[in-house]
Amino acid sequence: MAPDNVTDLVTRYDVVVDASDNFPTRFLLNDACALADVPLSHGAVYRFEGQVTTFTGGRPCYRCLFPEAPPEGAVPDCATAGVLGILPGTVGAIQATEVVKLLLDEGETLDGRLLVYDAESLSTETVPIRSSPDCPVCSEAPAIEDVADGEYSDRCAVPE
Ligand SMILES: [Zn+2]
Repeated sequence: MAPDNVTDLVTRYDVVVDASDNFPTRFLLNDACALADVPLSHGAVYRFEGQVTTFTGGRPCYRCLFPEAPPEGAVPDCATAGVLGILPGTVGAIQATEVVKLLLDEGETLDGRLLVYDAESLSTETVPIRSSPDCPVCSEAPAIEDVADGEYSDRCAVPE
């Protein structure tokens, strides 16, 4: 998957599941899905925390939450920070539930809400996601109108 083929790939499916572990892939999938109006399930894990949300196309999108990747070295990668081994399974099961609900058009998805799961305290919190008027993808005057306009370099790994 790359900027030159991602739109062709995501438009073949009813829902895309992002279970990636890096910002370039997250931004690339978000941009392609938001621009093509394809629903996207987003899941992320970090140490004891998991985050899940569902974007159903249009607004808001992942870049409304995180317009750009964090500065180089600001976020350690999974190999450095570690992830509770069970966490991807928990987050993946929630994402699978979201996909089934979308496909069946049943229930209430996490569209417009970010589910934050803290495995250490076994608690959850749901945070509203608001459409950003300055979002580079889904705002009124987006900077990214095509995935070719985006930057998808890997800047999150801690320099060695
Ligand atoms: Zn957006």
